[in-house]
Amino acid sequence: MKIYFLGTGTSQGIPVIGIDHPVCKSDNFKDKRLRASVWIEHEDTSIVIDCGPDFRQQMLTSGCTKIDGVLFTHEHADHTAGLDDLRPITFIQGNVDLFGDVRVVKSLKKRFDYAFKTKNRYPGTPQVTLHKISSRSKFNIKNTEIIPIKVMHGNLPILGYRMGDFAYLTDAKTIDEKEYKKLQNLEVLVVNALRIQEHTTHFNLEEALNFVQKINPKKTYFTHISYNLGFHDEVEKNLPENVFLAYDNLTLTL
Ligand SMILES: [Zn+2]
Ligand SMILES: [Zn+2]
Repeated sequence: MKIYFLGTGTSQGIPVIGIDHPVCKSDNFKDKRLRASVWIEHEDTSIVIDCGPDFRQQMLTSGCTKIDGVLFTHEHADHTAGLDDLRPITFIQGNVDLFGDVRVVKSLKKRFDYAFKTKNRYPGTPQVTLHKISSRSKFNIKNTEIIPIKVMHGNLPILGYRMGDFAYLTDAKTIDEKEYKKLQNLEVLVVNALRIQEHTTHFNLEEALNFVQKINPKKTYFTHISYNLGFHDEVEKNLPENVFLAYDNLTLTL
């Protein structure tokens, strides 16, 4: 399995428009973060988690030109706003399957209504099919089994995903103990760590580290990072063994 970090930033990315903060001015490429997303290649299956406003740039940089499924964690714009940029992929391969919970499906149908019209559809719209999923049942994309995990983003229930020994959770603030059994014996956990200060709907660094201790994966990579977490290299120096900050275009092989 190959994991490619397409983006590791929080909703505004780093640098943030109009913010005069040293992290936003850093020359280190690891301090430049597009909106959070990953590309997973497992055998002949290509899966992307979330499709935010930087999707076009992420596809061009990574070289991803084939997608068997897009898994949505939730409907916030930083995770969905790039849906229209699936068009070139659909022109190459035809339909792209999209997976989200009932609320995500409803929201995408409303915001991208033109893509889901059955009559008088403009010919250039993305050819996509929505599939409703829930944290109660696993499903497959080709031969890859996907286990959805219920995560609380403040009061909003959203989804994380496990594939084999890899799990991806973003925008988490709390996770029900009963979902922990889906996170046992992980090789790699990716989870959000927003910043140092507390936040109402996302783990801060301390909460993310406590969560890692409970789950005990072999390796952890933090994502969905704000400039308020600090410089990549300085934060990473102080992390425990086998816990790292992800950065854009980092690739892992499992
Ligand atoms: Zn987000
Ligand atoms: Zn969100």
